[in-house]
Amino acid sequence: MRKGIENSASVRHYPAVFLDRDGTLNEDTGYIDSPERLILIEGASSAIKKLNAEGFKVVIITNQSGVARGYFSQEALDAVNKKLVRILEADNAYLDGIYYCPHHPDDDCECRKPKTGMLEQAKKDLAIDLKKSYIVGDKASDVEIAHKIGGKGILVLTGMGRDEKNKLNNKPSYIADDLNDAVEWIIKGSDKSKV
Ligand SMILES: [Mg+2]
Ligand SMILES: [Zn+2]
Repeated sequence: MRKGIENSASVRHYPAVFLDRDGTLNEDTGYIDSPERLILIEGASSAIKKLNAEGFKVVIITNQSGVARGYFSQEALDAVNKKLVRILEADNAYLDGIYYCPHHPDDDCECRKPKTGMLEQAKKDLAIDLKKSYIVGDKASDVEIAHKIGGKGILVLTGMGRDEKNKLNNKPSYIADDLNDAVEWIIKGSDKSKV
């Protein structure tokens, strides 16, 4: 194979697992306005580690309207995300990106979930194949995004998941007890497709 020459057809596109943050990766303790309020859900690090090992891009997509509402600053949000990265890296679990929407629901931006702006941006930045990707979250809106991009949506029953289960317009591909259960399901399916 020739080195150094790639045309667009030969560029590899990666499957991704898009993760919601609050209620999925960390306990939903209301608006998380400081690093002290960030508590990881049990098994979250090892779940991400498994996705890393399977070759998935792991990307957080999170609505953080607390910024637009004036509940916390962009700097406070960055500090919370930094703490999250630090905890995960201490467990050898790695994120490929963190995307957040700081806007108010009334701003009608293109990034607030269930709009797909954050996923479109990640697709460009990280060479992601959205149709081969998964979205894991504790809200009906997370599942809705999966339907829009042609990927698979998984509802987790942590965070708001148990209430949101009754609000689903679209059927999720799987309903998981928690992130770790979701990841086990994803990995089982991707093994099957390799055979
Ligand atoms: Mg959530
Ligand atoms: Zn936005």
